[in-house]
Amino acid sequence: METINARSWVERFIKTVVDQAGELTELDRRAGDGDYGTNLRSALRRVEANLAGVASDAPDAVFTAVSDGFLNTGGTSGPLFGMWFREFTRSPELTTAALAEAAAGGVAVVQRLGKAEVGHKTMVDAMVPAAEALTAAAGRDEPLAEAVRAAASAAHTGAASTESLLAKRGRASYVGENARGVVDPGALTVALFFDAAS
Ligand code: ADP
Ligand code: MG
Ligand code: MG
Repeated sequence: METINARSWVERFIKTVVDQAGELTELDRRAGDGDYGTNLRSALRRVEANLAGVASDAPDAVFTAVSDGFLNTGGTSGPLFGMWFREFTRSPELTTAALAEAAAGGVAVVQRLGKAEVGHKTMVDAMVPAAEALTAAAGRDEPLAEAVRAAASAAHTGAASTESLLAKRGRASYVGENARGVVDPGALTVALFFDAAS
């Protein structure tokens, strides 16, 4: 069965985010406090350091390194992504079913901690449709490559939907109408993560 190499996935994700850190920060500057790219970059530096000490490319080892890097980072996004990525450590192998389970578990823990629903203009707006796409793909027994493409597409649609919203959670909720017209950087990051798998 075809699979995805977890380390290559994470390395592509890091590269994309580092390339787009400026744009992501700009979104947080317009609807937040402007530290998002900095928070993300410092998390990813920790992730890279953790990964350098891990010999295995297995998803449990790789995503433990990712999760720990985010959990030790400041900002609201660090701990939430840390807990989200922790759900990806539970499977010894990346399959459509395992990813669907991880993504569903990730949504549950992020919503439990952050209390954001879909439509509150947060990372949840991309996490939920991605998880739903993966669950649907698992139900149809779809190959992993198709499943992650569907997840990426759903996450991008979810992220794009945040542009017209007012924020109900996080610092973007402090700026009221000024948040309208700004895509949520956390949601966009979720979409970039699934892009990196496809
Ligand atoms: P801070 O607002 O503390 O500076 P960051 O800039 O690191 O945090 O992260 C901002 C991102 O965190 C937002 O783009 C949004 O996706 C996410 N976020 C904020 N609050 C919540 C929440 N309650 N639930 C889920 N995600 C949230
Ligand atoms: Mg911020
Ligand atoms: Mg901040």
